[in-house]
Amino acid sequence: NDALLEVDNLHVSFSTYGGEVKAVRGVSLRLHRGETLAIVGESGCGKSVTARSIMRLLPKNNSKITEGSIRFNGRELTRLSEKQMRDVRGSDIAIIFQDAMTALNPTMTIGEQLMEGVIRHQRLSRTEARKRAVEMLQFVGIRDPELRLKQHLHQFSGGMRQRIMIAMAAICSPAVLIADEPTTALDVTIQAQILDLFRMLQRTTQASLIMITHDLGVVASIADRVNVMYAGQVVESAPVKELFRNPQHPYTRGLLDSIPRLDRPRGAKLDAIPGTPPDLFAPPKGCAFAARCPHAMEVCGLFPPDSVKLDGEHTVACWLQDARARTMPPQGPAQV
Ligand code: SF4
Ligand code: MG
Repeated sequence: NDALLEVDNLHVSFSTYGGEVKAVRGVSLRLHRGETLAIVGESGCGKSVTARSIMRLLPKNNSKITEGSIRFNGRELTRLSEKQMRDVRGSDIAIIFQDAMTALNPTMTIGEQLMEGVIRHQRLSRTEARKRAVEMLQFVGIRDPELRLKQHLHQFSGGMRQRIMIAMAAICSPAVLIADEPTTALDVTIQAQILDLFRMLQRTTQASLIMITHDLGVVASIADRVNVMYAGQVVESAPVKELFRNPQHPYTRGLLDSIPRLDRPRGAKLDAIPGTPPDLFAPPKGCAFAARCPHAMEVCGLFPPDSVKLDGEHTVACWLQDARARTMPPQGPAQV
């Protein structure tokens, strides 16, 4: 097993006035060296919560990892102290968010923020750190880096701010980069440039990347493997080509049917998936997608489907793929 980052059976809950929300319900994932894993799903499916759990950046007052394990290089992250975790963040695993203005400090100069990380993690002198910051800005495509170091975030365009956030995440050469909807707020041209930058960064640094997105176009253009999430669970996982060619979960098929394609007649209506995801205050006891699934069977409402291994790296959690569904006794599957 050569996974660099392994998440096993992760459960995360939020306590709210309305009760406990089970935002992540048994997520497992593997990230190998140098690969790009996409996590795709609608907003509220638990993909950002999964990312924040890995970084241990969940809100402390109302959220909790209730079960599961997160290992980086064999080291269990869920048990690290906050101080140990601060050493992991930035130098081993770094995260890039959608909105630099809220993720970074708008009152500090770009240079101060870039240098802070390398001074702390790599114990460089200020002069060395400054040199490194200039190189990094150049690397992410920012001209006049010497001048730009002295500026603040608001002096940059949206695309440039994302470049700066990527520079900050990458400056200590972390082995894992997590990008949470990094291009969602950008227009299509800038989005393509930022995705190019991620590819270039990976080629140069061999970093592994987790790309979190609701956009299958982004998935197609950058991912090696894809995890599809629905209602706090991974419902399908496959290499990217396999997923697009041979989607097996009805939710994945619905997502693929809802992307605009060139071979569709212009103005043709997209097949959005009817219905809404279930309430995670009280998740359904069977398959979470049952209420929206055109193939739902009786067993689907009664018991959650297990993850079934198809060819190669392809797994799917759906009763349609589970031979036991055909021979199910009325009291349910024997081994579930
Ligand atoms: Fe549909 Fe049943 Fe598969 Fe769920 S388990 S996706 S309800 S067929
Ligand atoms: Mg999100």
